[in-house]
Amino acid sequence: MDKNFQEEFTQIIKFKPPLYKQRHQFVKDLVEKYKPKKVADLGCADCSLLRMLKFCSCIEVLAGLDICANVMKEKMHTLSPLPVDYLQPSERSLTITLHHGSVAHKDPCMLGFDLVTCIELIEHLEEPELKKFPEVVFGFMAPSIVVISTPNSEFNPLLPGVILYRHPDHKFEWNQAQFQSWALATARCYDYSVEFTGVGHPPTGMEKAGFCTQIGVFIRKYPQTGESLQSEKPTEVIYETVFKAVYPSLKDEKYLQNAVISEVIFTAQIIKHRLMSKHEEYGNDPERKSKFTPSMDCFSDYLGKLVVEKNMEPFVSGNEVYIPLATIFSFPKVNRLCGTFEKLCKLIAGKVTLSSDGSAVMVNMECEDEDD
Ligand code: SAH
Repeated sequence: MDKNFQEEFTQIIKFKPPLYKQRHQFVKDLVEKYKPKKVADLGCADCSLLRMLKFCSCIEVLAGLDICANVMKEKMHTLSPLPVDYLQPSERSLTITLHHGSVAHKDPCMLGFDLVTCIELIEHLEEPELKKFPEVVFGFMAPSIVVISTPNSEFNPLLPGVILYRHPDHKFEWNQAQFQSWALATARCYDYSVEFTGVGHPPTGMEKAGFCTQIGVFIRKYPQTGESLQSEKPTEVIYETVFKAVYPSLKDEKYLQNAVISEVIFTAQIIKHRLMSKHEEYGNDPERKSKFTPSMDCFSDYLGKLVVEKNMEPFVSGNEVYIPLATIFSFPKVNRLCGTFEKLCKLIAGKVTLSSDGSAVMVNMECEDEDD
């Protein structure tokens, strides 16, 4: 490498966005492409990648593993559900767990993952750990996809201030040929294919240096044979679980019921208000009032393509508005939440005031919403 050219670049190389963000974005893009349900991040450190991945709606199980419990504990509270998660539970379920342990050991809690990420991990492993790593990750965990990133030592001369390694805890840094030969041998041994890429482009004219961070994406060639393989795997628990958060989800009947009850009451109130404003338009003319049957036109913006049947029309009797459950069920949000009419009836039974035959929600005309 031309020394002057090199010196010139060492002054100006600054990645935008910063390289760690580019690595995490790379993983996020991979998640969006392959839509894994279960993702484990090995060497998760302060959980920053997990924090980003919890917003990927395909993920239902997220796990982090690190040999340093303190670094995980620093910010693990940021992985807990927020009040808004309880107010509006998500349709997907999400469990986040953090484990304290080493990638050199097998633990049953690491089985069943679709994607395993090892971002800037392997260069922190001592030789005996690095030796065991492929057997643990590819042989034992055997996810469909493994992504491994590590510094590319050929880029180091372009980085200001790097003398031997980029970080004092690094045990080695590989050039492209070293990483690729290790990755190819590992992939061959465990029936994976591997493709190489990276983040942090070299400057123009320095393309030979390769990416600043080199990345291998490993894809398992054959599907796991499941039962037989799992049953042969040891079940001894070695890792210590240091954090577990189960997010509120509509898959949980308790949250679904709350959401359905709120939505039914909200929908009934909307219908009542529409009905009452129509009612007022008729004024106090007793003759017109008695003939009053609300038109469904006033709900059309809510009901969309609702097929209006006679028995779906709300009506007023005495001080009560009767809103047929069939009408409420036809509202898209109620419909989506419950799936079936039977489920709607089951979820609101005993929780919402119904007519004596159970076919309509009763709302008192005078009972206004608190904020009215
Ligand atoms: N993946 C993180 C940072 C990695 S730094 C990121 O993307 O930002 C490397 C991490 O690996 C450190 O937190 C270190 O504690 C952890 N580590 C080192 N040896 C380990 C081992 N044998 N098993 C699990 N984690 C290990």
